[in-house]
Amino acid sequence: MQSNKTLPEKRIKATVRRLTLCLVVSLAVPQLANAEYNLPSLGDTSSSIMSPEQEHQLGRAWLSMLRGAVPTLDDPLLKNFVESHVYSLAETSQLDDRRLSFVLIDSPQLNAFAAPGGVIGVNGGLFLNAYTEAEFASVMAHELAHLSQRHFARNLQQQERMRIPMMTAMLAGVILAAAGGGDAGIAALASTQAAVIQEQRRFSRQNEQEADRIGLTNLERAGYDPEAMPDMFERLAQKSRFSRKPPEFLLTHPVTQSRIADSRNRADQLKSGGQKDSVEYQMMRARVQLHHEQSPGLAAQRFRILLDEHDGDHAAARYGLVLALTRSGQYAEAAEVLEPLLASQGNNVTVNLAAVELDIYRGELEQALTRVDRLLQINPDNYPLQEAKADILLRARHYTEAEKVINRLAAQRDSDPDVWYLTAEIRGLAGNIIGVHTARAEYFMLAGDLDQASEQLGLAATRAADDYVQSARIQARQQYLAEQRAIIENL
Ligand SMILES: [Zn+2]
Repeated sequence: MQSNKTLPEKRIKATVRRLTLCLVVSLAVPQLANAEYNLPSLGDTSSSIMSPEQEHQLGRAWLSMLRGAVPTLDDPLLKNFVESHVYSLAETSQLDDRRLSFVLIDSPQLNAFAAPGGVIGVNGGLFLNAYTEAEFASVMAHELAHLSQRHFARNLQQQERMRIPMMTAMLAGVILAAAGGGDAGIAALASTQAAVIQEQRRFSRQNEQEADRIGLTNLERAGYDPEAMPDMFERLAQKSRFSRKPPEFLLTHPVTQSRIADSRNRADQLKSGGQKDSVEYQMMRARVQLHHEQSPGLAAQRFRILLDEHDGDHAAARYGLVLALTRSGQYAEAAEVLEPLLASQGNNVTVNLAAVELDIYRGELEQALTRVDRLLQINPDNYPLQEAKADILLRARHYTEAEKVINRLAAQRDSDPDVWYLTAEIRGLAGNIIGVHTARAEYFMLAGDLDQASEQLGLAATRAADDYVQSARIQARQQYLAEQRAIIENL
């Protein structure tokens, strides 16, 4: 969905960028490696190092720092796909604590990671490099295994003697991976530390083998074809042979011949015949491909060629073509290409939201709203549908109704900065000034700008001085903010 990118956001993004630079600069300061690591004292077993609760809090704080440092994808369909995909993999995994948080990083570089406290991160580049849903699942299953085996806590135990700020090193690794070759500034700044960081971020070979082994078993249990893991490893190995600078993911996860052979042998012993791919995954891939294409026109050409090669029988190419045509203003053709998809998958949310996007571009807001309302009757809690409804109502200037919809969504997704961003915008237009400040505060807290969050809470508190209930709620958030600050300062 196209959100209204207005000036205030540019200001916010600029602030966030400055924060990034501070962070990277401070990482390059050598004495930071000796900084006091304010964590509970280490015991004999991994569980006494850090309780799952502490890990969860640390993960949340770390995630907000990361969000302040890298560009993220705010595409509700992609976010929703990754979340439900990983939650369903988690069901068959050995993961005990299934409170997961997600971040989608806007980068074509291949990377995926799991951080302590259940933080799952995916670069858009994973969609580009994983050709099937099963390949995508094999990477996520590997990362979930790092979490379920609590490799971080165990690693921390080993590193305690060296006092290495592992989380900070990992943050830098993820930022580097997001920047890839693209952001020369960040890459150059961090390059002095890159080698050291790389070493700190890397799990032991034993940990990696365990993550492969457990991930593979989970892959099969979740109903996927286990051969997808060695298949993907093989392709990545071939690819990296021709690139001078392999992506970060391959540096921390080298696809050696023995790793490929190991996973192939194990996969062969497991039950074959599981799921390989899905149309839904391919439609998500098409969204990412379109996002990284130079222009919608160029993307349309590519999707058209793919569709023609399959005599019109390729749902994802058709879907990508519809989006590309819509975004390049060729509405009549977009509607025509979309027709067979709507006819065959009339209740599919992704397909219907393509129709909604087309209607929005054509200014047919009422038609878009009717369609979204029909689908919401079938899927009342669907995130992309609810956000689309709020967006349509906003465009139609029905601000009070839009606020109702977005407030409900914000309550459901209270740790999603994109939802809070839209909430602030809608509340502003609906004239709810205290609501604007509290929504902005939530946004800034989640996006790693605690000073701005504090300022917004202060403004809200002044306005709400006569309202006992609101004041109490704002005070509770100020308390939470102070706790977040303490965690981050100790990182
Ligand atoms: Zn790994």
